[in-house]
Amino acid sequence: LISLAQVVKDYGDTRVLDHLNLAIPEGQKVALIGPSGSGKSTVLRLIKGLETVSNGTVTMDGAAVGSGRRQHRWFSRGPVRHQVGMVFQHFNLFPHLTVEQNIMEAPLRVLKLDVAQARERAHYYLQMVGLAHKAPAWPATLSGGQQQRVAIARALAMQPRVMLFDEVTSALDPESVGEVLKVIRDVAHGQNMTMLLVTHEMSFARDVADRVLFMEKGKIIDDGTPEQVLVNPLNPRTRQFLNILT
Ligand code: ATP
Ligand code: MG
Repeated sequence: LISLAQVVKDYGDTRVLDHLNLAIPEGQKVALIGPSGSGKSTVLRLIKGLETVSNGTVTMDGAAVGSGRRQHRWFSRGPVRHQVGMVFQHFNLFPHLTVEQNIMEAPLRVLKLDVAQARERAHYYLQMVGLAHKAPAWPATLSGGQQQRVAIARALAMQPRVMLFDEVTSALDPESVGEVLKVIRDVAHGQNMTMLLVTHEMSFARDVADRVLFMEKGKIIDDGTPEQVLVNPLNPRTRQFLNILT
């Protein structure tokens, strides 16, 4: 479904992605781990079309996402972009909209649903994340974990084929982490959605992912099942990284 071929990303003199290759088939759940600055968020941002590549190609269903400015434009404004949902570390809810309005916004504006349909959809996804009763609430009145669950519902309400999660629990207090991971786990297990998650929660990665990638310095240096990469990594760098965290 998603393919990155020989992708290079430079910021000025800094090479952030270095001839990276990655193919993700439809329905696969992929965990992306690695040290800070290794390029994990950049991979997600390229797939979402928020960044352009310096070289190489990013394709979805064979259509270019980031191989040039034109394609990027088309991707970011055209229909393909809406097939990719992304949730960030900081939930970025619209503070001036209620929870329900936050979720209705894109389905109304982008998918041109009518208000009744958009509201119905908002409630469906709010129920999925266990927050149906918070529909009329203001984001600021919710806990961090609740806000993040709303952000997940908001992304899901576009019914994307691919969901990208970028360290969605790392800004949360310890009590909230579990509730957000549970929601993601339910989504992962309940749907044939393609998912790419950047996470430092290794037990969660083991539980949710079919495949784990370890990145360092802009390259994927380990790629395998959770068992292969997280439990018995052969790669010495992966071993070292996992020991630091545990
Ligand atoms: P973290 O675990 O800290 O989130 P990461 O693996 O997600 O790290 P990226 O955010 O992809 O790493 O960043 C990779 C490198 O690219 C870093 O060295 C970062 O400083 C640099 N970088 C990212 N965005 C930009 C930008 N807009 N301009 C310049 N440099 C950037
Ligand atoms: Mg990052």
